[in-house]
Amino acid sequence: MIPSKTKHQTIIYILPEAKMKLDAYVGLAKGEISGLGKVIRLKKGTLLIQDLFIFDQKCTPSETVLDSSAVADFMTDMISAGEDPSCVRLWWHSHADMKVFWSTTDDATIFGFNNEWMLSLVTNFFGDYLCRVDSFQPMQMTAYDVPLQVFLEMEAKTLEILGKEVETKVKHTVPKTKTYAGGNNNGHVPTDGVDIFEVVEYSED
Ligand SMILES: [Zn+2]
Repeated sequence: MIPSKTKHQTIIYILPEAKMKLDAYVGLAKGEISGLGKVIRLKKGTLLIQDLFIFDQKCTPSETVLDSSAVADFMTDMISAGEDPSCVRLWWHSHADMKVFWSTTDDATIFGFNNEWMLSLVTNFFGDYLCRVDSFQPMQMTAYDVPLQVFLEMEAKTLEILGKEVETKVKHTVPKTKTYAGGNNNGHVPTDGVDIFEVVEYSED
């Protein structure tokens, strides 16, 4: 099957903790490594990687082949832990010290997921990232080269808590009256001398 090469304005966001976890897994592995991850849809065309996982795997120096029984075990464990396996929409892997690209083995792995859509990410030791989104319903389509960005937006609830903290702890002092040195009292900064002004009174409002 030849995938269609369409460019989209889609953005893949990743939570900072998940990005650090990804880079740590990749950096700690001697060669290739692969895993899955949780993804949620934020709005149309925007996906957020929330977490990543690894499981038992055998990787050659140049190839990662996903062990379907290890994936099945992982999904079963998720269900028994009361988690929803339908949010597992990310397949990620590292090419170690090789360039990032989609090999025919990678394509076969992606097409092997029995999902409506799948987000895939390939990275390496040099911090290169390549993301693609494949949808399989109602037809197979691939969005290549989707940019990856660390999600730095704060949750509205956290922002509200911080706003209240600033409101209660931080008081701003505002100068009420200003008198300029040099006898110029008409409110203009003197132009013929050093611009020094003296604050006579502060307000605590
Ligand atoms: Zn690959």
